[in-house]
Amino acid sequence: MAFRMRQSRSRQNLQGRLALIVTFAIFALLGADALSLAGSREQTLRDAEQETANLSRSLADQAHRIFQLMDSDLLGVRAAIEAAPFPNPTAQTEAWIQRIMAARAAARPATYALMVLDASGHVLVGSRGDQVRGLDFSTSGLFAHHRDDPSRAAFIGRPLRDPLDGSWVLTVSRRINAADGGFAGVAVEEVPADFFRKLYASFDTGQDGVILLARSDAVLLARWPGRATDIGADLSASPLFKTYVGPGDRQNFEFMSLLDGTDRLASYTWVDDTPVLVMVGRAKQAVLENWRLTLWGHVLGLAVVLGMLLLLARQLAQKIAEEAAAQEQLITTNVQLARSEASTARAVQWLKLAEQIAHVGHWYLDVADGNTLTWSDEVYRIFGLDQEMFTPSLDLALAFYLPEDSQAKAAALARCLQTCQPYEEFTRLVRPDGTIRHIFTRGEPQQDHAGRAVAVFGVVMDMTVQKQAEADLRHATARAEAANKALEAANAALETLAMQDSLTTLPNRRQFDRALDQEFRRAVRGHSSLALIMIDVDQFKQFNDLYGHQAGDACLRAIAQTLPPLLNRPGDIAARYGGEELAVLLPGNTACGARELAHRIAASVRDLGMVHAGSPYGVVTISAGVEVFAPMREADRPADLVARADAALYAAKRSGRNRVLCHSELGLAAPRAAELSSADD
Ligand code: GH3
Ligand code: MG
Ligand code: MG
Repeated sequence: MAFRMRQSRSRQNLQGRLALIVTFAIFALLGADALSLAGSREQTLRDAEQETANLSRSLADQAHRIFQLMDSDLLGVRAAIEAAPFPNPTAQTEAWIQRIMAARAAARPATYALMVLDASGHVLVGSRGDQVRGLDFSTSGLFAHHRDDPSRAAFIGRPLRDPLDGSWVLTVSRRINAADGGFAGVAVEEVPADFFRKLYASFDTGQDGVILLARSDAVLLARWPGRATDIGADLSASPLFKTYVGPGDRQNFEFMSLLDGTDRLASYTWVDDTPVLVMVGRAKQAVLENWRLTLWGHVLGLAVVLGMLLLLARQLAQKIAEEAAAQEQLITTNVQLARSEASTARAVQWLKLAEQIAHVGHWYLDVADGNTLTWSDEVYRIFGLDQEMFTPSLDLALAFYLPEDSQAKAAALARCLQTCQPYEEFTRLVRPDGTIRHIFTRGEPQQDHAGRAVAVFGVVMDMTVQKQAEADLRHATARAEAANKALEAANAALETLAMQDSLTTLPNRRQFDRALDQEFRRAVRGHSSLALIMIDVDQFKQFNDLYGHQAGDACLRAIAQTLPPLLNRPGDIAARYGGEELAVLLPGNTACGARELAHRIAASVRDLGMVHAGSPYGVVTISAGVEVFAPMREADRPADLVARADAALYAAKRSGRNRVLCHSELGLAAPRAAELSSADD
C-alpha cells in the first residue's frame, strides 16, 4: 500500500514537473516572440523613418533643382531687362526678351510660365504673350514683397490663382531694379501646383501616405494626395509647424494629421536656399501593415506551436499516466501473484498435512512420458521408504506388493488405461522392514484431447489400522454374540428353573397356574372343554416316617416321571401342584378321556411297585379327582375347576384311596363327601 502511494506521488511529481516545463516553455516562447515582434516593430518603424527621411531629402533636392531652374530663368531675364531698362524698352528689346522667355519656357514643360511685371504690378511681357499682357498682379503677395523689400534674392510666393485658367500656381520671383537701384518691376516664373502633386503621386508612400511642400510660414504649396482647396492652406496649427518644424536640416517625427486625422510617421527636409520644406509622411497603420501580417503569422505559428506543444504535453502526460497505471497494474498483479503463490504453498502444505493425518498419499503415472511415476510425501511414508534414497518407478512400486496383489494391481492399471475407467482395489504391500500394510488404491485415468488415456492420477490409503480395527470389531462382535447366546441360554435355563420343580423336574405350581389361566381363557373363547386331574399320594406322611424323607423324595420323583409319557396331546401339562400333590391339565379333553388317563396314571404308579408297608395295598398308590367343564365367561373361574377336581380327589380319599373319582360322580356320593369334609374339619 505504501509502495502504491509512493508510486502515485512520483507520478504526480512527474506530471507536475511536466506541467511546469510546458508552462515555462509556453511563457519562454511567448516572451521570446513578443520581444522579437517588438524588435521587428521597432525596426519596421525605424526603416519607415529612414525611408521617409531619404524620400524627403530626395524630394527636397528635386524641388531645389526646380526652383533653381526657375530662378536661373529669372536671373537671365532680369539681367536682360536691367541691361535694357524699363519703362521705355525698345520694341526690339521687348521682342528679344519675349523670345528669350519663350525659349526658356519652351525648354520646360509647357506648364511653366514666365512673366515680367512693371513697377505698377502689371504684366509687361510674358511667355504666354498677349494673353497675359497687362494683367494686374499689384495685389499679389509676391509683388508687394519685391516692391517693399529691396532684397534681390529669389522669393517663393504664396500660391496664386493663375489669372488665365484659375488653377493654383507656385511662383519664384526676383526684384528688378532700375538703374538708380529703385524698384522697377518683378520677374516671376510660375509652375502649377499640380505639377508637384503629380510628381509626388509618382512616389509610393503607401496607404494614406502623404507628401507636401510648404513654406516656412506654414503656407501649403502642394500636397499629395490633396484637393485644390488645400493649396495655400495655413498649417500653422498643425503639429508639423506647431511642434516639429525647427531650424534643423530635417527631422523625423510622428504626428496626427489635421487634414485627415491619420497618424503618421513623417520626416521633413528644408529645400536648400529656400524657406520651403518637403515633408514625407507614411501612415503608421500602413507602415506596420506588413509587421502586423508578420505578427498574425507569428501568432498563428505560435498558436500552432503552442497547440502542438500542449498536445505533446497532453500525450506525454497521458503516456505517463498510462505507464503509471500499467506499473500499478503490474504491482497489483505481482502482489496477487505473491498472494496466490503463498496460498498455493499453504494449500500444498495443508495437502501434505491432510495426507499425513488421513494416511492418504497421491501419485501420478505419466504414461505419455515413459511411465514416469511421481509420489507425494505420504506415499513414501506409507511404503516406509526414504525420499532421498528411493526413486519410484512402476516396476519397483509393484514389487513391493504381495505377488498375487502385484499381478492384480498391474492388471487393474492396464485395464484402467485401456478402458479409461477409474479403478479401486484393496492390496497388501510389504514394507522394507517386513511389515504388511493394507492399502486401498483408487486410480483416475487422465485423457488427452483425443480421449486417449495418457496418465493416471491416483490415491493410496493406508487401511492397516482400519483393517485391524475391523478384525478387532469382528472378534468383539463374535464374542459379544457368543456371550449373548450364553446369556440367552442362561436366561432360558433360569426361566425353566423358575417354572420347573427342582425335585421332580415337572412344571411347578407357577407354571401350572399360568397354563391354567391361559387354557381357561382359550376354552372360554373357543367354548371348548377343559379337564383337570388332581393327584395326591396316599399315606405319604407315613411313607416318610417309614423310609425317610430322601426315600420320600425319590418316591415323588418316580411318580412324577410316570406322567409325561402318558400325555400325548400338545397342550397337556403335568405339574407338581404342591407337596406330594400333582395336577394334570388336559385342554379340550372329555370327561371320559380325563378319567381314562387318571386311571392309567394310578395304574402306572402302582406298577412302579414301590413298597409301602403302611399302605393296605403294600405299594405306593395314588388317589385322583377329575373335573371336566366348558367354562363360561363371568360365571366360572379357574379356581372353580381346581376346587371341583380337589373335591373329587378328597372324595376318592374318603372312599378308600387308590382310586379315581370324577366330580360329576359326586352327586351320589355328595352326602358322603360332605360328611368326609366335615369329618376332616
Ligand atoms: P392321605 O392318604 O390321607 O393322603 O395320607 P397322608 O399321609 O398322605 O396325609 P397327608 O397328605 O396329609 O400328608 C402328606 C405328607 O406328605 C406330609 C409330608 O410329610 C409329606 N410330604 C409332603 N411333601 C414331601 C416331600 O417333598 N418329600 C417328602 N419326603 N415328604 C413330603
Ligand atoms: Mg396330601
Ligand atoms: Mg397324601
